[in-house]
Amino acid sequence: MTVPHGRFAPTPSGPLHAGSLLAALASYLDARSAGGRWSVRIEDVDPPRCPKGTSATILRQLEAFGLHWDGEVSYQSLHHDAYQAALQRLVDRGLAYPCSCSRKDWNEYAVYPGWCRKGVCRPESPVAWRLRSDLGPRPVIWHDRVHGPQRHDPAALGDVVLKRKDALWAYQLAVVVDDAGQSITDVVRGTDLLDNTPWQIQLQQALGYATPRYLHLPLVMGGDGQKLSKQNLAKPLPTDPAAIRNMLHAALQALGQTPAAELLGAEVGVQLREAIRYWNPLAVTTTPLSPAQLGIEEP
Ligand code: GLU
Repeated sequence: MTVPHGRFAPTPSGPLHAGSLLAALASYLDARSAGGRWSVRIEDVDPPRCPKGTSATILRQLEAFGLHWDGEVSYQSLHHDAYQAALQRLVDRGLAYPCSCSRKDWNEYAVYPGWCRKGVCRPESPVAWRLRSDLGPRPVIWHDRVHGPQRHDPAALGDVVLKRKDALWAYQLAVVVDDAGQSITDVVRGTDLLDNTPWQIQLQQALGYATPRYLHLPLVMGGDGQKLSKQNLAKPLPTDPAAIRNMLHAALQALGQTPAAELLGAEVGVQLREAIRYWNPLAVTTTPLSPAQLGIEEP
């Protein structure tokens, strides 16, 4: 039997905030409650967006919340060869193509219309590499453990970029290659990535990889209806141990779990042990969460 293997895959563009803590916590509980492994993968494919030292901060934050991972932390910046090999396989199968068009060229369209599918429009220009979303299985059908049955036509989302013109790897290819490379069985992450899943499943099928199970968590939304993110300066997580314990208790409740009231203020290890024991993914809802539910003020 395959050992369940979950992962937390932060982009180190800033320290963890309440929203990313939920993804870390839920993926940890889900893996541990199934007796599985839990890995951390730093998604640092875009160095200009990732200030130096942020990965170390994230790892310290996880440890402060008692979220200890198995094995070595994996860094996407070291996986260039694996991504290149995957891209080459797609190209060899006619499923990926170079594209010289710039965003300006197709501004009037909702998604890239695929002009370079038949050959690059500007042979002299630098190229990005895109997926032929029209050639894979359509529609893509899968089951999300929170959102239920899903059905999407990836072609309606357009030919996603796999490698950028500046030679940086795009999230979609990197995440699929690494989830497969690490034999991840369970992806637990924020609902902001729900609509990326069809491309990822299409890529998995094109590359002959297994599709993991997916669970997309509710987002933490500010009163302005905006997702809590590094961009809107979500407050960093507390570093004080007492505040961390309180936030962990609140985060478990926000995930629909019912931690015992007397565990409020208990050591993180004690809270997590109970949370693993009683983890109930069915209690996670699709309803967005407010920062107040996590015991934090609005940014
Ligand atoms: N690196 C992505 C992020 O921080 C998450 C990727 C994933 O979980 O698939 O938003």
